[in-house]
Amino acid sequence: MEKPILLYSTNLKAEPVTFSEALLKGLAPDKGLFMPEFIPTLSAEEIESFSSMEYYEIAFTIGKKFLKSEISDADLLAIVKDAYDYAIPLEKAYDNKYVMRLDQGPTASFKDFAARMMARLMNYYLARDGRKMLILTATSGDTGSAVANAFYGLNNIKVVVLFPTTEVTPRQRKQMTTLGKNVTVLSLDGKFDDCQALVKEAFSDSDLDYLGLSSANSINIGRLVPQIMYYAYSYSRLKNEAPDKKIVFSVPSGNFGDMMGGVLAMKMGIPIKKFVIATNKNDVFPNFMKTGEYHKIEPSHNCISSAMNVGHPSNMSRLVALYGGIMDEKGNVIKMPDMELMNKEIFSVSVSDSETEQTIKQAWEEHKLLLEPHGAVGWKGLISFLNENPSEKNSLCVSLETAHPAKFPEKIIDLLNFDPKLPPSLEGLDNKPEFVETLENNYVSFKKFLMERF
Ligand SMILES: *Cc1c(COP(=O)(O)O)cnc(C)c1O
Repeated sequence: MEKPILLYSTNLKAEPVTFSEALLKGLAPDKGLFMPEFIPTLSAEEIESFSSMEYYEIAFTIGKKFLKSEISDADLLAIVKDAYDYAIPLEKAYDNKYVMRLDQGPTASFKDFAARMMARLMNYYLARDGRKMLILTATSGDTGSAVANAFYGLNNIKVVVLFPTTEVTPRQRKQMTTLGKNVTVLSLDGKFDDCQALVKEAFSDSDLDYLGLSSANSINIGRLVPQIMYYAYSYSRLKNEAPDKKIVFSVPSGNFGDMMGGVLAMKMGIPIKKFVIATNKNDVFPNFMKTGEYHKIEPSHNCISSAMNVGHPSNMSRLVALYGGIMDEKGNVIKMPDMELMNKEIFSVSVSDSETEQTIKQAWEEHKLLLEPHGAVGWKGLISFLNENPSEKNSLCVSLETAHPAKFPEKIIDLLNFDPKLPPSLEGLDNKPEFVETLENNYVSFKKFLMERF
């Protein structure tokens, strides 16, 4: 049996653990994030073979590299086959410039990819250990519904979702609140960052140890590994259109989980020559790349790409670690990462709301490309990259569309004058009853709620 890959904490003050331990723990005991001690690589033959594989087979090959002896081939194959039963359209905008639509899962955002695999893996390990678990998750919209949906009905796991009352659309809210059963949904009078702070505080509160808390946020390593796979998949499908056999990805980013999956794909060997990392007005990262100084934005700006309204991206310490630096959970840079390498591999840009709206209009007018605000930030980032780097004009480029346009009907009607057709997964939501409770924005209330309820 191959030895498992161990995961260390980015704060470097906790013992390394196995993947299944990191998966069930979420956050390391020293409040750091789990990172693999080394990044497994894909051979040229493996990458070549992806071209003739189904998505779930690619997911299996990559997942196995991290899980190794911690799961049997048959069990992992069953999990990925069950998790990835939907299409991943690669839509041509023009020439060799594509949009990858990661919005065909049950909650119509890319977060289904991570949540569905993580839920099935957690369920598998909990059953093995005869344990139960309470998952706390903070959401700015799409995580909550993806997580709630992925765990809904599992008998070893209960889920509590916190969302900022005014920062999610009615449709996003209903995707969480219409479930019930083992899913409790709390509406908080505050911002996403407040929700995340409450969840983080609960994790480090030993009074709550008896609850068996875990996170399903982008801080969980189980969220990260499934986000490597679609980068490998799209490369395998489009590589013949790359003049230099290399690909550029543009990733609209908030907590930087999606882009971390991409960077891991590159470090595993997928021939990626550049990441375009586009944020909304919450531009901590583009500023960091420019100035080398990291300044959190508190409170975060409210932008129309609401799932990216993050003033201190929670995966930042992982990214810094991957480039040889150290950042603690508060955003203090203890050791600078290799900024030169980072600037070589990453182009980062902030996109305003008005540019986002303009892009939704232009993409539709010029290419009949239908984008919602998050995907439009990514597409605009790619346009900026190509404009600033004329030599990249012929490169194969894939921009990620992270949510379905029908999740933002008001915006699309306003800008394009039509109501986007709902994907089947979102039909019928409007008439279902909602189960939701409100919570005051302070830790004392949250703790009391948890201790009384569970
Ligand atoms: C969560 C989310 C993002 C940002 O992804 P991160 O991994 O947090 O960077 C982008 N778009 C949509 C629609 C999302 O739900």
